[in-house]
Amino acid sequence: MRDFLVAGNWKMNGSTASNAELVAGIVAGAPTSGSVKVLICPPFPYLSTVVAQVAGSSVAVGAQTVSEHEAGAFTGEVAPAMLRDIGCEYVIVGHSERRALYGETSFAVAAKFKAALDAGLKPILCVGETLEQRESGSTESVVEVQLGAVIDKVGIAGFATGVVAYEPVWAIGTGMTASPQQAQDVHRHIRNVMAGHDADIAAATQILYGGSMKGENAAGLLAMPDIDGGLIGGASLKAADFLAIAAAAAQG
Ligand code: PEP
Repeated sequence: MRDFLVAGNWKMNGSTASNAELVAGIVAGAPTSGSVKVLICPPFPYLSTVVAQVAGSSVAVGAQTVSEHEAGAFTGEVAPAMLRDIGCEYVIVGHSERRALYGETSFAVAAKFKAALDAGLKPILCVGETLEQRESGSTESVVEVQLGAVIDKVGIAGFATGVVAYEPVWAIGTGMTASPQQAQDVHRHIRNVMAGHDADIAAATQILYGGSMKGENAAGLLAMPDIDGGLIGGASLKAADFLAIAAAAAQG
């Protein structure tokens, strides 16, 4: 049986003061049930402070992206070992905003996934189709290519540690959520593709849903058999909204 992971992607939001309030609220209200893990992913400048703020709680911290390189002349980049060094446990790789706005290819995302694993981080691989791709019937092939690039790079064993997040691009930040059945169908497909490589790893891998998840729709999504949590943007910026999703997971 897989545990739930409820992950907040703060994107480029927050300040020292607002983060302190948000983290305090999350730490105070995070579910105590061992079957739900809460993760928050603040912007780079706040990671160390947030790691200190969650110390002693069950809340984990991750970054929103990472370099594929170990160290060296890569101005502006952050190495995976640095994230481990300051106490991050997870890192998001291949978020659709990184792919669309910063030109990250599936090849580059796979390199980041590998670098994260090598440094002892748990990478969360984001996959998902645009509206145009969904309407042309290519959702399954799009996620297969995105997932396949990582499997080619690290083997299916990479998902003994890694997590997948299915995030339909048309649902991110739009208020349009995939229906539980739409999401379940893609999650099942992802798990089936993984099972073609290793059934045990496929059965154990957490596959999160992301795309306008909120308290009101979380229970329906999290009740689906292949949805193991959420990657949450907008609703992760208010403790009450984020905790409502975590509470739905605790009941799921
Ligand atoms: C995200 O950015 O990963 C996301 C799912 O955002 P939102 O919840 O705002 O749609």
